Amino acid sequence: MYDVLIIGAGPGGIFAAYELMEKNPKMKIAVFEMGHELKKRHCPIDGEKIKSCIHCKSCSIMSGFGGAGAFSDGKYNITNDFGGTLYQYIGKKVALELMEYVDMINLKYGGEGTKLYSTAGTSIKKTCMQNGLHLLDASVRHLGTDINYIVLDNLYAHLKDKVEFLFDCTVDSVEKIDNGYRVCTADGDAYEGCKCIISAGRSGSKWMEKVCKDLNIQTKSNRVDIGVRVELPSEIFSHLTDELYESKIVYRTEKYEDLVRTFCMNPKGAVVNENTNGIVTVNGHSYEDPARQTGNTNFALLVAKHFSEPFKDSNGYGESIARLSNMLGGGVIVQRFGDLVRGQRSTEKRIAESFTVPTLNAAAGDLSLVLPKRILDGIIEMIYALDKVAPGTANDDTLLYGVEVKFYNMEVEVDKNLMTCHEGLYVIGDGSGITHSLSHASASGVYVARQIAK
Ligand SMILES: Cc1cc2nc3c(=O)[nH]c(=O)nc-3n(C[C@H](O)[C@H](O)[C@H](O)COP(=O)(O)OP(=O)(O)OC[C@H]3O[C@@H](n4cnc5c(N)ncnc54)[C@H](O)[C@@H]3O)c2cc1C
Repeated sequence: MYDVLIIGAGPGGIFAAYELMEKNPKMKIAVFEMGHELKKRHCPIDGEKIKSCIHCKSCSIMSGFGGAGAFSDGKYNITNDFGGTLYQYIGKKVALELMEYVDMINLKYGGEGTKLYSTAGTSIKKTCMQNGLHLLDASVRHLGTDINYIVLDNLYAHLKDKVEFLFDCTVDSVEKIDNGYRVCTADGDAYEGCKCIISAGRSGSKWMEKVCKDLNIQTKSNRVDIGVRVELPSEIFSHLTDELYESKIVYRTEKYEDLVRTFCMNPKGAVVNENTNGIVTVNGHSYEDPARQTGNTNFALLVAKHFSEPFKDSNGYGESIARLSNMLGGGVIVQRFGDLVRGQRSTEKRIAESFTVPTLNAAAGDLSLVLPKRILDGIIEMIYALDKVAPGTANDDTLLYGVEVKFYNMEVEVDKNLMTCHEGLYVIGDGSGITHSLSHASASGVYVARQIAK
């Protein structure tokens, strides 16, 4: 009998385990993770022998110790303005304090010396407003992919003898028993614990739906964000990225009054593939180490799609669009902005002649055959709006990779302690639909650990 069973070793699960050990080192805790331990996580795509996703049994980019964030850019946004709605459950002040606490732990375990950027007092906010753009407030700790890995490695070294980690161990079901919960794994083993924390992230979204159905936990879902990843020479955005690193800018389109936003900005970074439930989409990251940086900056432009009754399957809608790009391009499609606005597909030759050298080997193609008109129109409008604050954004050679989809997990019904209708069963992190970021997911782990330790 364990005191606490934790499902998922992403930031939510790791920080829950860390805080439980801080508060009560005598607790007996097991962490179940369907992916590998950190050192064994390798994506087989090497750009030479293996050029595109081969759909491994467990995706090393999304699963394993460190979760989806292990090879991310390690941007910890300390804000209630984006990254999740944790504050709606625990209050803005507590949420910010927890994000600051997580930042302190990250610094203690290897992040010391990394830079904290802030929008406070920046003149860029005014320039944005003058051009119909809105810059959101935040402090951003940029660990970088390399330091992020070191922090995770150090956290694992700190926890591995205190907590029982079970890697390559997929949890099949969670059952309520008299004095707690029973977790059954795909290998047929069963573990029992007084409390259970589920932190299954985005890769566990379908499984989470099943758990909620089995245990009669209410859920709701009706949002998906769809768009492209933009890649351009880093000089074009340097006045923004040098000061803010990541700028979250929102634009309301004139035509449909849709909101388009920048997301996950990676100065001098690289564009990468992402695999969600077998569908290849695009993402980006960058390194803190100058030797590993590129000459390009990339960021996503996403249009939020909220659906109303009777349609309920917002993620299914996003998946269908991503599948179209996979069907046409075998994976991610890349197109020059100039080709897109002229209504012509990009060819390998045109991409090779482009002054912006792509950092991801994607199939040259036509995004207008993939993205719905309303979404594409919104993206084009925003690129022209950004061109006013960062001239050169609308250059012909700006590269657009598609599609980028931000799937939102359905929102699981939990109370102010992030506990479900079942006493002692908590749902945290991105799997709860409440958080969508490293800092919020980690903060939710600390929060629940403190509730349990109390
Ligand atoms: C390429 C990339 C870059 C990103 N960059 C950033 C960034 O810079 N800043 C930012 O704030 N966010 C970023 N994100 C998002 C961020 O990684 C997530 O918000 C964060 O990891 C969520 O943490 P989590 O613990 O809730 O879930 P996850 O990190 O997804 O972890 C969940 C874990 O649960 C495991 N799991 C799921 N189901 C089961 C099961 N049934 N049994 C056992 N284990 C299971 C999974 O294998 C996974 O390891 C990025 C994401 C990606 C993919």
